[in-house]
Amino acid sequence: MSPKYVYFFGAGTADGNMKMKDILGGKGANLAEMAGLGLPVPPGFTVSTAVCDLFYRNKKRIPDAVKLEIEKNLKKLEKTVGQDLGDPKNPLLVSIRSGARASMPGMMDTILNLGLNEKTVAALIAKTNNPRFVYDSYRRFVQMYGDVVLDLKPVNKDDIDPFEAIIEQKKNERGIHSDTDLTADDLKDLVVRFKAAIKAKTGHDFPEDPMKQMWGAVGAVFNSWMNDRAIAYRKMYDIPESWGTAVNVQLMVFGNMGNDSGTGVAFTRDAATGENMFYGEYLMNAQGEDVVAGTRTPLPIADLKKDDPKALAQLEKIRHILEKHYTDMMDVEFTIQQGQLYMLQCRVGKRTAFAAIKIAVDMVDEKLIGEKEALTRIDPDQLNQLLRPIFDPSEKAAAIKAGRLMTKGLNAGPGAATGRIVFNSVDAEAWAQKGEKVILTRIETSPEDIKGMNAAEGILTARGGMTSHAALVARQMGRVCVAGCSDLAIDYAARTMTVKGRTLGEGAWISIDGTTGQVLEGKVSTKPSEVLQVLIEKTLDPKDAPVYRTFAKVMKWADKYRTMKIRTNADQPDQAANAVAFGAEGIGLCRTEHMFFGEGKIGPMREMILADTLAERKAALAKLLPLQRRDFAGIFEVMNGRPVTIRTIDPPLHEFLPHSEKDQRALAGQMGISYEKVKTRVESLHEFNPMLGFRGCRLGIIYPEITEMQARAIFEAAAETKKKGIDVEPEVMIPLVGHIKELANQEKLVRQTAAAVMKEKGVKFKYLVGTMIEIPRGAITADEIASVAEFFSFGTNDLTQTTLGVSRDDAGRFLTPYVEMDIYAKDPFEVLDRDGVGQLMRMAVERGRKTRPAIKLGICGEHGGEPSSVEFCHMIGLNYVSCSPFRVPIARLAAARAALMNAPKAPAKKPAPAKKTVKKR
Ligand code: ADP
Ligand code: MG
Ligand code: MG
Repeated sequence: MSPKYVYFFGAGTADGNMKMKDILGGKGANLAEMAGLGLPVPPGFTVSTAVCDLFYRNKKRIPDAVKLEIEKNLKKLEKTVGQDLGDPKNPLLVSIRSGARASMPGMMDTILNLGLNEKTVAALIAKTNNPRFVYDSYRRFVQMYGDVVLDLKPVNKDDIDPFEAIIEQKKNERGIHSDTDLTADDLKDLVVRFKAAIKAKTGHDFPEDPMKQMWGAVGAVFNSWMNDRAIAYRKMYDIPESWGTAVNVQLMVFGNMGNDSGTGVAFTRDAATGENMFYGEYLMNAQGEDVVAGTRTPLPIADLKKDDPKALAQLEKIRHILEKHYTDMMDVEFTIQQGQLYMLQCRVGKRTAFAAIKIAVDMVDEKLIGEKEALTRIDPDQLNQLLRPIFDPSEKAAAIKAGRLMTKGLNAGPGAATGRIVFNSVDAEAWAQKGEKVILTRIETSPEDIKGMNAAEGILTARGGMTSHAALVARQMGRVCVAGCSDLAIDYAARTMTVKGRTLGEGAWISIDGTTGQVLEGKVSTKPSEVLQVLIEKTLDPKDAPVYRTFAKVMKWADKYRTMKIRTNADQPDQAANAVAFGAEGIGLCRTEHMFFGEGKIGPMREMILADTLAERKAALAKLLPLQRRDFAGIFEVMNGRPVTIRTIDPPLHEFLPHSEKDQRALAGQMGISYEKVKTRVESLHEFNPMLGFRGCRLGIIYPEITEMQARAIFEAAAETKKKGIDVEPEVMIPLVGHIKELANQEKLVRQTAAAVMKEKGVKFKYLVGTMIEIPRGAITADEIASVAEFFSFGTNDLTQTTLGVSRDDAGRFLTPYVEMDIYAKDPFEVLDRDGVGQLMRMAVERGRKTRPAIKLGICGEHGGEPSSVEFCHMIGLNYVSCSPFRVPIARLAAARAALMNAPKAPAKKPAPAKKTVKKR
């Protein structure tokens, strides 16, 4: 038997159902499902997605076998409704609708009112006695067909649509403004002019034969699978080209038959807030996409109570039937033809994070779904929306209208921030201390800017991408950030920034929207999100915070089902406290180097680096010791017994030294040494590829006194904290280990120091020594390394750099094009490269566990807060993921979904013993 290519639906039955999206596309599957449910769906049939592939392989022609099947189903449709295509008395009209497996709204084409020609137009007028309706339908059909099938489109991007131009001209001639003022004769004349324009500009005759119209339209829908819009959309949402689109041929129903007819779209719940109320818009005497097109302002669905209360009541009923059936919030299209309601589409509705959590929680309360199902309904990444400060939406719209939108950059740190422009970190801090809100505006940021970034409301940079320093740190701090605004010219000396001829100076107000990347001149007021007001600011009582309560419920469920622990990357007590408020169960990465930029520390740090002798270096380190100890004690106290992984110094030393002559001279003055000496030292530390340079454990091996000081600071802080009656569990992590001997070397120092401190202080405490796995050799020799390491933490930022041989800081030139060309499907620094980096991780997990079955395994790269990467970590069996504080809720949800969607499979049943059978011939 040849495969089935066409599926009929209508009159209470259907060949397909909602589970057949692969074959029927989303629209076709759901039309079939609704028809099967007995809802009023105009009958029709779906040509399967498989035909799309055949079409392209058959030189863009519909194969004959499929044509036959379509003709058979058309006959069936004609019989069902008692009308024939092209019949001069009682003509059938149909729509030809695209519909892929995943919804691609508006990306492909649809043609309405197919089957109209000079003969059927006359028949329809005789039948309806409504020439205006008939000619309105006809001109829409010729217009859509001319555009989609015969390809009469605007040539330049500045051109107006050729059909709209003709309509405009007609309206001018007639001295009218609205489409609805066009009479039947006007519309009839438009049809003539449309056909003439098509012939003149494309050379095609408009086909009178309805079958010809049909083959043209079906082919055009398949062709629209490969139009530019559709291709771009697929790329953005990871929809494979191989899926193809289906084509739906469906009986037309008419919302434009008069004031007793109409059309609309609706959501079964509010898609913005999740409120359990019917939400939608409609227009009377209108067809198809008039509602979305914005030519006429649609009315809120509640008004239908006046226009057609019966239809509204029926819609309300269908709303409940659909929600109960699909157990989700649905988005529907409907049309009312002379008081008769028809359903034309339904699909699971898109929603904001606010709506997603509310609908999920409400539906559990309503017993429509269970907790596990609820968790799979919420996109973890979306949770960001709940944490970001927000612009007052109406104020922002007004600002844009007033021409205050200056430019757009990368939406690197979501949220909204308004403040006064400052051009360096020192000013940012000073201004903030005076109570000013500031936006730190820099060409790019460096680790030295940490404090200024922390003091600022938001960060705006002219250079750098989504993983630039500014973006990375902004996300960790939960700061709003717009990065890489390439048309921003910043003059530090003049303290000005210029965009497209508009110049703003220091102190001027700007507003940046890190969710969209928009930069606006002037103030737009913001407020912290409700969740933050409860958890971080602690200015709002949960009982006055419905969004927070919903969020908290989702988080509670997530914690119930996840199997991985969630830690955070935090370098300071306040960051750690925020992370704990967000649900972090430990610190997975405390970077000690950020501490060296803190109060009074950069001085001794520089002395240490510039020291000529061991004695000098030790003297400088002695100054750093109490400062680091205080930092660690602060963190231990906040973490209150939770595990804390502390990484020994990692970045190359030159990062701590000033680079401009002015700053170097100042440093020389402070230290009482010559400028030349500072300059020479900086030059000698210069590296051509600092990523692979004198950093990580290499520093601690060549300068053991640095590791010793850091270990001492950690353990003395631990002893102090323990004495206060607070539990501590430090985990000392040695970075950039590629060889077991590197780790053994550092481990020895750490353990010696621990023993010494315990003896000196008379306190015992637990601690672990482990390593980062961030160099391929480390992963490959993980079995050896695990003989020393009590834990591994995958540093996937560096592991990605070293595995791919790509230095992230200068990868922008080719990495973005690479992703566009699909060489890498996703930026590997954002989404873990499972097939490459991931395999090294898997190997390290297996080899590490073989040597040390109880080894603790985690990840502390940026990937630890990215849902797909978190899922992979679950799949390879990590014990925890660690991410920036503001991503902790995302990681909690992602870990729960990973556990639910990758549940251990039931043990495979033993295959039944093979029976001996004799095949009959
Ligand atoms: P899209 O996928 O872009 O929404 P659709 O195929 O849903 O395209 O159709 C576009 C518009 O035409 C929708 O408003 C739809 O309701 C309307 N429409 C489609 N088919 C019919 C039909 N058979 N009768 C009346 N209106 C229809
Ligand atoms: Mg639609
Ligand atoms: Mg690293």
